[in-house]
Amino acid sequence: MGRITNLENKRYGMLTVGSFAGANAHRQAMWTARCDCGVQKNILSTSLLTGKSRSCGCSRVKHLKSRTVEFRTWTAVKSRCSNHRLSGWHNYGGRGIRVCDRWLASFDNFLSDMGPRPDGASSIDRINNDGDYEPGNCRWATHGQQGFNRRTTRLIQHNSKVRSLSDWAARAGLSVQTLSRRLSRGWDMDRALTETPRLGRPGQHAGTLHNMAKCSDEDVRSMRALFAAGASASSLAPRFNMSKQNANRICTGKTWKHLL
Ligand SMILES: [Zn+2]
Repeated sequence: MGRITNLENKRYGMLTVGSFAGANAHRQAMWTARCDCGVQKNILSTSLLTGKSRSCGCSRVKHLKSRTVEFRTWTAVKSRCSNHRLSGWHNYGGRGIRVCDRWLASFDNFLSDMGPRPDGASSIDRINNDGDYEPGNCRWATHGQQGFNRRTTRLIQHNSKVRSLSDWAARAGLSVQTLSRRLSRGWDMDRALTETPRLGRPGQHAGTLHNMAKCSDEDVRSMRALFAAGASASSLAPRFNMSKQNANRICTGKTWKHLL
């Protein structure tokens, strides 16, 4: 490895060079580079300087797959969450919405989780509007469904900050349902956010009383809501920390019948 040309912060095609990444096994200089698509990888100095590398590889894949609507959706979703120059940035990356690592890693992962876009669907939709782009929280939806989801996001102003109900709840360590119920009972925000949730009293509910209970009433309600909105029971299982069988029984109403 001879003299190292400093490529830091230089642009090559879709790539922005970061820091020096050492030498490879052939003693060739490498640099970390971030592609406009969001992927970061180490690239040979010579590949950058000769113009051989102009993206992480996605622009080559693009030639083959860019005509599919699924690929365009994947690209758009990543841009929304990583490109602050886009006009809708404040609705996505700007408020902490992320793309999960599995989908960032490859288009194939995204396609195998989402499946091909069905006829009649027009866009990708997050079931929980404050959740990330990840399996279990996304579906192919019509424009009507998307609009509905957006309208049902409840914004609350408190201490001069405007946040969604679920954002306030998450920051206070409460479930959305607990916070929502407190507000509908007329509690002020300070009390609603700070009071410790009561534990269920013995004999209150068959479910929470049961020794084997793996989740709370609120978990069951939110699981069923997501299930009704199109998430599969098996995708919900890891999010609620339970087996797929348990999730399936809860979603289909075979267990926790007292909450139906
Ligand atoms: Zn790329």
